[in-house]
Parts: sequence; C-alpha cells; structure tokens
Amino acid sequence: MQYRTIGGEPEVVEVQTPEPGPGQVRLRVTAAGLCHSDAFVMGLPAEQYVYGLPLTLGHEGAGVVDALGEGVTGVAVGDPVAVYGPWGCGLCHACARGAENYCTRAAALGIMPPGLGSPGALAEFMLVDDVRHLVPLGDLDPVASVSLTDAGLTPYHAVVSSLEKLPAGSTAVVIGAGGLGHVAIQVLRAVTGATVVALDVSEQKLDLAREVGAHHVLRSEPAVVDAIRSLTGGVGAQAVFDIVGAPPTLEIARRTVASDGVVQIVGIGGGTLPTGFFSTPMGASVRAPYWGTRTELVEVLDLARAGAVHVEVERFTLDEAPEAYRRLHEGTIRGRAVVVPSA
Ligand code: NAD
Ligand code: ZN
Ligand code: ZN
Repeated sequence: MQYRTIGGEPEVVEVQTPEPGPGQVRLRVTAAGLCHSDAFVMGLPAEQYVYGLPLTLGHEGAGVVDALGEGVTGVAVGDPVAVYGPWGCGLCHACARGAENYCTRAAALGIMPPGLGSPGALAEFMLVDDVRHLVPLGDLDPVASVSLTDAGLTPYHAVVSSLEKLPAGSTAVVIGAGGLGHVAIQVLRAVTGATVVALDVSEQKLDLAREVGAHHVLRSEPAVVDAIRSLTGGVGAQAVFDIVGAPPTLEIARRTVASDGVVQIVGIGGGTLPTGFFSTPMGASVRAPYWGTRTELVEVLDLARAGAVHVEVERFTLDEAPEAYRRLHEGTIRGRAVVVPSA
C-alpha cells in the first residue's frame, strides 16, 4: 500500500519481498493500523513533504518474525511481535532512557520510522532495522493490539507525563474520541483518579467515548467551555488532551484548563496556542508530545493484557485499504481501521 505521487490516492502495488540486511529482521505482517497522521502526510504540498516516494504506508505494525539478517540474536523465527515505531539512534541520552521518540540524532542520521520515511507495515512483509524495535506480543491478538503501538502509546505517553496533575477529584478533558482519543479515555480511567470529560463533533464518537469509560460526553463547540467550568465548580480541567489540535479545539483547551494545569497538544490540526500572561491561566503549561517511549509501549501492552485498555477495531484487507483511508478521512471509522494483509 503505497503513496506514490503528491496529492494522489494511495495504491496497492506489487513489490519484491525485502531481504533483511545485517542486523535487520523481516516480519510477516499480521496487522497494520491506519492513523490520521497518514492523511496529514498525504495532504502535504511537495515543498513540505519529506518522507520519500514511493512510500509504503503503515506506522502501526505487528507481525511474526520471518527471517533474520546476519548477526541478529534475541528473537527467533515464528515469534509474534509489535513494532516500536519512533526509531532513534539507540546511543544518545534520550535513546538510552528508552525515549527514541525524542532521539537527538535521528534526523541528522536520516533514521525515519516505518511508514513515515522507511517502508511501513501496510504490506505482507516489512523490515525492522533492529531487534530493539520489537516488543514481544505474547498471547495478545495482533489485530486487536497493533494500534496500541501508536493510538495507545501516544495518549499513554501524554497521560503519564501529566500524572501529577491528575489525582482523585481532578478533571481531564479529551478532545477528539477517534483512534487515539478512545484509548486516551481508557488510559485515564486506568492510571489516574480523574473524572474524564470527552468532546467530539460526532454523535457516534461520543457514544463510543461513553462506552469506553468517559464520565461525561459533550459536543465540541464554544459553549462547552461554560459546561466544563460548571462541571468543575468553576475551576477548570487539570489536564486537557487536545487530540485534534485545530484552532477551535485549542481555544477550548485554553479556556478550560485550570490554573497550574497542563494542555497536551497531541493532534496535528495545524493550530498553535499562545502561552503566557493574558492567554493561558496562571501556572498552566502547554506541551506538544510526540509518540512515546519503548518502555511505555511495554507498559501499554501490559495494560491491554490486564484488560484495562482495548482498541475498537474495524478490519480491512490490503485491497480494501484505500477504502479504509477514505472512511478515516470522512470520520466514520469506529475506533481504529486495521489492515490484515494475509486476509
Ligand atoms: P481520528 O480521525 O481517528 O480521530 C479524530 C477524532 O477527532 C474524530 O473522532 C473526529 O470526529 C474528532 N474531531 C474532529 N474535529 C473535532 C473538533 N473540532 N472537536 C472535537 N473532536 C473533533 O484520528 P487519530 O488517528 O486518532 O489522530 C488524531 C490526531 O492525532 C491527528 O491529528 C493525528 O495526526 C494526531 N497524531 C499525533 C501523534 C503524536 O505523536 N502527537 C501520533 C498519532 C496521531
Ligand atoms: Zn500515527
Ligand atoms: Zn538517539
């Protein structure tokens, strides 16, 4: 499944089965998730597009180890694994603590995540550059869990970095209850004491938000600011996770965050949030986190194993992937679209 020309539709094409070079691992892909970021990438004009063409899409991947390149140890053919996507150098300070998502050298070294520069998971086979980027799946179902590698990991990373703001009695707002948002709600329920308020523009997504554990669901519109203020006794929300990141949602975030609270801008909706006196409340911080760390991926998979989080999945074959992207663009996917290449 490749993006081949700027502004074009992604296409299913035939390519050579890749051979793993030294240190690389070939996976037979068992599941690959579709993310709204793919739509963002495919919407970029030529002068801002940096991912190379053709680009095999898919930055949420799971598979079975299929072949080992020279010198690879630690995994065996047949092992079920999930792919840790934000590949870093493995050597810098950030990588040393597992935060390859904030690698200080990846850009300079030309290291790019699968599906976002390197060939991705929307294929029958994929190469992973290092065993370090594999996490054992154990008995987790790959189709049900593949999206934990991004739709789970990204909100988990945002939530755990806000933990100190979210004791019992606090309020967390999640804006956008799509692929990432419906997992964000569950993570908040699992690891914090916060009351969770979910906002969306779609009734179906609000129903999903309620089903997965939101205490309150509200339409995302300017008037919601007063509703949240009144739910919180005038205080506001200690953490706002804006998983849309567009100007109108950032304005809701700005006006609902409590003093000393935090706004986490997860969505790539093109908005910015001016921070300072006369814009954000006193003490409030604003952060735009990217993906998550390797250790956090292990933790998210453990949360799923414990039954505390799950991903609502709509399943597609590789041939149906273009249709799945159209549905994602329309906003009618419930949870996450997952492609099963062998199906
Ligand atoms: P999605 O399409 O599955 O979900 C988006 C949701 O937002 C939908 O439910 C939609 O109805 C809702 N929405 C749209 N406009 C809204 C509004 N004005 N107010 C409230 N809700 C609104 O998308 P996704 O795959 O979950 O991705 C969400 C965003 O996160 C995208 O911008 C994506 O690029 C970004 N993303 C960021 C990171 C990161 O590392 N920061 C990682 C993955 C995805
Ligand atoms: Zn993504
Ligand atoms: Zn690094």
